Amino acid sequence: MEDKAARTSEGQPIRCKAAVGRKPGEPLIIEEIIVAPPMAREARIKVICTSLCYSDITFWKMKDPPAIWPRIFGHEAIGIVESVGEDVSEVTKGDMVVPIFLPDCGECVDCKSEKSNLCSKFPFQVSPWMTRYESSRFTDLNGQIIHHFLFVSSFSEYTVVDIANLTKIDPVAPPNKACLLSCGVSTGVGAAWKAANVEPGSSVAIFGLGSIGLAVAEGARLCGATKIIGVDVNPEKFEIGKKFGVTDFVQAGADKSVSQVIKEMTGGGADYCFECVGMASLVHEAYASCRKGWGKTVVLGVDKPGSNLSLKSSEVLCDGKSLIGALFGGLKPKSHVPILLKRYIDKELKLDEFITHEVEFKDINKAFDLLLKGGCLRCVIWMNK
Ligand SMILES: [Zn+2]
Ligand SMILES: [Zn+2]
Repeated sequence: MEDKAARTSEGQPIRCKAAVGRKPGEPLIIEEIIVAPPMAREARIKVICTSLCYSDITFWKMKDPPAIWPRIFGHEAIGIVESVGEDVSEVTKGDMVVPIFLPDCGECVDCKSEKSNLCSKFPFQVSPWMTRYESSRFTDLNGQIIHHFLFVSSFSEYTVVDIANLTKIDPVAPPNKACLLSCGVSTGVGAAWKAANVEPGSSVAIFGLGSIGLAVAEGARLCGATKIIGVDVNPEKFEIGKKFGVTDFVQAGADKSVSQVIKEMTGGGADYCFECVGMASLVHEAYASCRKGWGKTVVLGVDKPGSNLSLKSSEVLCDGKSLIGALFGGLKPKSHVPILLKRYIDKELKLDEFITHEVEFKDINKAFDLLLKGGCLRCVIWMNK
């Protein structure tokens, strides 16, 4: 007689390969690990593709807390539900899902409000654990706990993700493209679309033309901005930027201050400015570059712990500008990511152009080299190809 239980992994630990970070800045080690079954309100996912985002690098290099080892990095991914824990009706085995680091519980005041994407039931944090339990689902073959990263940990053939961090998507999209909506591209596009609400005909200045900055340009282009100014220290970024709608370029570090140049180019300041690097001084420059009265500056980067902004209170009062920060570009994962995917399928939103490299899982450390070397926007890592 056929033993059904023996053929299914449901409810059982899974032994699979993962790329484990064991020491700061050292290559990840591909080793066999044990992935526990999902607990209540969790799902276990078979990862199809993952890609490397700059936050993985930041935490991989970090020597002091909140760094913690060993850890499985990776938070930009797509996968298929292998099994679900108790009390899960939102997704079922076989569903295509995008894990997203920002929780969206759908029940709290903030998740129910159109005005926020910051869940208060599960506030965003860089935790080493699962979203709703102070525990890990990963152990190595010696029984040692391996920590989670950004509630996703996708550098593993299987991972466990909370329902609050999962968005079910239309399986029609190619996985290597849809995976980009899990973090970076959504953050940039969302910043223009939701955080800033860029209108047709407006002017935009983007500080830092890395993949997030280019995604902001793509979002601004989709919103109908007519002047999209890229600011970067590297003039080669302008050529890449043109593919994503950047119309003008300002080289940072020249004699004239960037804000002075942008004010001249826009007749008083850009309508919307975006800081995509994570430098307090650039936030000041972006704020100074936006138009008095209605200019809005959106901060997407994060500077070192403890760094502060300083603005003159008279300037804040008299200039009437807004300054906001936006995690995940202000997008509500479960409601907005499917819309972005639809726009990609309808050939409006560009995703293919962000993929500059693709590697197999065994070569995951190459993705780190490529991103560190520059000239790489997104390197997609195929788990099983
Ligand atoms: Zn990311
Ligand atoms: Zn919530």
